[in-house]
Amino acid sequence: NLPIAATNGIDNSPLQIFVKAKKKINDIFGEIEDYVKDTVDYMHEVQKEDHIVSQEIVRQIEEFVHKVHSIREVLARDHMKVAFFGRTSNGKSSVINAMLRDKILPSGIGHTTNCFLQVEGSTTEDPYLTLEGSNEQRAVESVGQLAHALCEEKLSESEMVRVHWPKNRCLLLRDDVVFVDSPGVDVTPNLDEWIDKHCLDADVFVLVANAESTLMVTEKNFFHKVSTKLSKPNIFILNNRWDASASEPEYLDQVRRQHQERAIDFLVKELGVCTPKEAEERIFFISAKEVLQARLAEQGHTALTPLTDGFQTRYFEFQDFERKFEECISKSAVKTKFEQHSQRGKFIANNLKELLEDLYNEASKLKEEKLYQRKELTDKINYTEQQLMIITQEMKKKIQNMVEDVEQRVSKALTE
Ligand code: GDP
Repeated sequence: NLPIAATNGIDNSPLQIFVKAKKKINDIFGEIEDYVKDTVDYMHEVQKEDHIVSQEIVRQIEEFVHKVHSIREVLARDHMKVAFFGRTSNGKSSVINAMLRDKILPSGIGHTTNCFLQVEGSTTEDPYLTLEGSNEQRAVESVGQLAHALCEEKLSESEMVRVHWPKNRCLLLRDDVVFVDSPGVDVTPNLDEWIDKHCLDADVFVLVANAESTLMVTEKNFFHKVSTKLSKPNIFILNNRWDASASEPEYLDQVRRQHQERAIDFLVKELGVCTPKEAEERIFFISAKEVLQARLAEQGHTALTPLTDGFQTRYFEFQDFERKFEECISKSAVKTKFEQHSQRGKFIANNLKELLEDLYNEASKLKEEKLYQRKELTDKINYTEQQLMIITQEMKKKIQNMVEDVEQRVSKALTE
């Protein structure tokens, strides 16, 4: 019996932590953008009034519109990135295909990935390729053709080919996970260039090791380099080809224990990237080939092949890895990708608030000055009125006296 595939429903997938956080932060920045635009419109209105708002303040607020807009553009492109490393033929491409539930990347004898390959979701109906430094979309009809196209191109080992795969064919791609397959670490690589070009923004690293041998110095070296450039990278170790153990069941436990101890030592003591308890949640014994075959058969793409002993346990362990991986990548991506944006969002909102407060204070001062001026004027008018009244009264009195005086004089003259 085939185990039921991990059909992580839309809502219970740990990847939703990232998906929901991305939606929320996008909505918040949408609101900030509206708010900033409204403020600019308001400023332009206010600017028509003399002396209230300076050209400099309007310019500063207009600049926020561009800043918020460019953050929104970066946010729309933000994704979770997982990069796979290991020696050639350990099964990196097979692990990616098993997780994507489809034969997307070429794998197997006769094909070695000789450059970096990035698989990402696209909204197009059909898959296509793009090469580094070009936007030209090249159609991909089949895995064979993809392998051929990669061999045709003279690509250097640090170059990146992007495979754009329709999102509606795969839940992981729909939820913004981007997969990066690398050339084998045994291919005399320029590790520094690899890390600088392709790893600094990776949220999770997966070391695909061969369970039939021990961890190699070349594999270890690569991660030593990574951990000097990134603080506490999230590393999973997959001991692939564990199906080979089925042929020697008597050594199974012993071999597993030995691999486990060495891998824990590597993560805890050598790299110092996690505690022993955390390390136990990062090491898995799987068979990518079996999982891929089972998943393709489940979807009716291929016939079911005979199952090797212990298949079910290995399949469950692969599902367990997928769950832990999804939890780890979405939490890590939320922290690394969104923490910075929310800091900048807060900074912009605070800056805008301060500018508006300054403006309000300026306007209040102006109002007070005008009121004061008006009061001074009123006082002056009152005083003048009073003066006028006094003068008028005096005049009246004087005229009265004059009239009386004249009257007296006239009557006196008449009687004389
Ligand atoms: P890459 O070079 O690391 O990408 O390795 P590939 O994914 O191309 O695998 C190399 C070969 O190993 C292919 O023929 C795979 O079918 C085979 N392979 C991958 N995973 C397993 C596995 O778990 N068990 C077995 N038996 N073979 C595997």
